[in-house]
Amino acid sequence: MAGQDCIFCRIVAGQIPSTRVWENDRILAFLDIRPISDGHTLLIPKRHAGSLSECDASVLAEMIGVAGPLAKSVVEAAQAEGYNLLCNNGRAAGQLVDHVHFHIIPRRSDDGVLARWPHKEYPAGKAEEMAGKIRDHLAKS
Ligand code: AMP
Ligand code: ZN
Repeated sequence: MAGQDCIFCRIVAGQIPSTRVWENDRILAFLDIRPISDGHTLLIPKRHAGSLSECDASVLAEMIGVAGPLAKSVVEAAQAEGYNLLCNNGRAAGQLVDHVHFHIIPRRSDDGVLARWPHKEYPAGKAEEMAGKIRDHLAKS
């Protein structure tokens, strides 16, 4: 899904209004239309990629390079205390727009946003088993 079917591609093309914060030829940052907090910013590649693993590695590297200074400015502008850099991939992970994007979400210690994750502990042997499976898939990729 790209072009006319993708809302973020349409934002890049200027066919849908957006509140742009920063851009170059490859990357665009604009405000999220339904912010979790003031200043909530989305950072996207201008060329469509559905998810992180589908995005060109050099563009991804450039996006990460931009994300640091951009997040610092977002936090300062929002007078926040910190931020989350999030990238939802797949419906199960909460991805609703299938054009890869990083959320920069300004945070305050008392904002109650993104409550603590439900951490658990590995039973004996399970961590090594999982790491082995990941290494196997990496070797095949
Ligand atoms: P995700 O759930 O990670 O796919 O996040 C998609 C984000 O895109 C949500 O936070 C939406 O509020 C945001 N969004 C959707 N449409 C627009 C739009 N037209 N302009 C700005 N942000 C948008
Ligand atoms: Zn797109």
